Amino acid sequence: MLKSKDIMLRTHVSDLKGKISEQVRVEGFVQARRDQGGIKFLVVRDVTGTVQAIVTRQNGEVFDEVAKLTLESVIDLTGMIKEQKQAPGGFEIEIEALKVLSVAEPLPIPVVEEKSGGEVDAALRFDYRWLDLRKPEKLKIFKVWTALEKGFRKYFSDNGYVQVYSPSIMGTASEGGSEVFEVQYFDRKGYLAQSPQFYKQLAQSAGFEKVFMVGPVFRAEPSFTTRHMTEFTGWDFELSYIDSHEDIMQAEEAMLVEAFKTVKEEVMPELEIPTVPFPRMTMNEAKLKLKQVGVPSDKAGDFSSEEERELGRLVKEETGHDFVFVTEYGSAYRAFYHMRPEADQTVTKSYDLIYKGLEITTGAQREHRPAILKQQAQEKGIPTDQLESYFSFFRYGCPPHGGAGIGPGRIIMKLLDLESVKEATFLPRDVRRLTP
Ligand code: ATP
Repeated sequence: MLKSKDIMLRTHVSDLKGKISEQVRVEGFVQARRDQGGIKFLVVRDVTGTVQAIVTRQNGEVFDEVAKLTLESVIDLTGMIKEQKQAPGGFEIEIEALKVLSVAEPLPIPVVEEKSGGEVDAALRFDYRWLDLRKPEKLKIFKVWTALEKGFRKYFSDNGYVQVYSPSIMGTASEGGSEVFEVQYFDRKGYLAQSPQFYKQLAQSAGFEKVFMVGPVFRAEPSFTTRHMTEFTGWDFELSYIDSHEDIMQAEEAMLVEAFKTVKEEVMPELEIPTVPFPRMTMNEAKLKLKQVGVPSDKAGDFSSEEERELGRLVKEETGHDFVFVTEYGSAYRAFYHMRPEADQTVTKSYDLIYKGLEITTGAQREHRPAILKQQAQEKGIPTDQLESYFSFFRYGCPPHGGAGIGPGRIIMKLLDLESVKEATFLPRDVRRLTP
């Protein structure tokens, strides 16, 4: 569409610098308003930042308009940029014309924290998530996610992996158990995928050799922790012709380096890139380490969240590293499809990756021999008739393979030191929350 010559193009706040004495047009939210005698001050915020704008009584019509503006209303203003030492950034806009694009009602939560006000309750913030997200530091979370995922995709696509998507509605519950949401699927029951596990393995049976995926994961677990949601975004990858889970760990650490590099380049110059190899230890070694500092252990082959946290702290102290791979989780605590070493059936060829004391990944070599796979499922008391379709993926030839499921929300929670994975999630879902 052609624009007539007298319609001035919009300038983003971040591009205003250096335009002293030029006329500009800015659109954004009214973040603050201050009256000082014959001058009214506005702080206007767009996606790139904030700028101070002023109007004096001389411009009577605009002056009166500004006086009526409510906080967080959306305006379109035109004016001249003037040097102003006291203004943030050293300049301000002298408003000549103003159009109100949207009038904001009184705010249910403050957008930019008022000095006197205490912390707003998190549940209330999430009720009004679109206002909560107007804070500039919230936008940063999603810029970090965008960059992190760009690095994730770059690593895998540069290394011969193909991206696939798998269905979220399934005819059987992916891993059995009670953590699955049922859906009415015409005249029968369907289930929401608890992970794309079976399908990324199907891709190995299809001979794709290397796949990665990004998609929604659903868990019907009544958890009220800072690290669990009922729906989250999962990153998954799976590769064939591996010797052990060590191949998976090498792929994951290389991917994470690429992902962190991208975040550093694009959003956080101060971010430290982790060095490879990440520290590695077996479950038994980790338990011994924890015992030495008096951290109690309930289970021999698995961690409590306290153990994860303490292990993260110890490894950081000893090596300076934020990441640690722990291998050989007990077979009692792992999925039936995790392969077990020939020599010791009590452990699995699996790992968890712990980042700053929190599990962010589970990975493993998978059992690709259908008879053993079925036997392992039976041992865990899983009704195997529902799994026949899955077992058949491995009946017509399937390379040895393995992979991992990663929670990007948890990575970002820790990377940015957020209180909960929900803070790293655009619109979180938990036991209580289905809106907005
Ligand atoms: P946890 O033991 O913490 O409940 P899990 O062992 O059930 O996690 P996996 O099934 O291995 O987790 O899922 C792979 C990854 O997905 C986890 O390492 C984690 O990063 C992420 N994840 C798992 N469950 C959730 C959840 N409920 N909310 C957010 N992220 C999750």
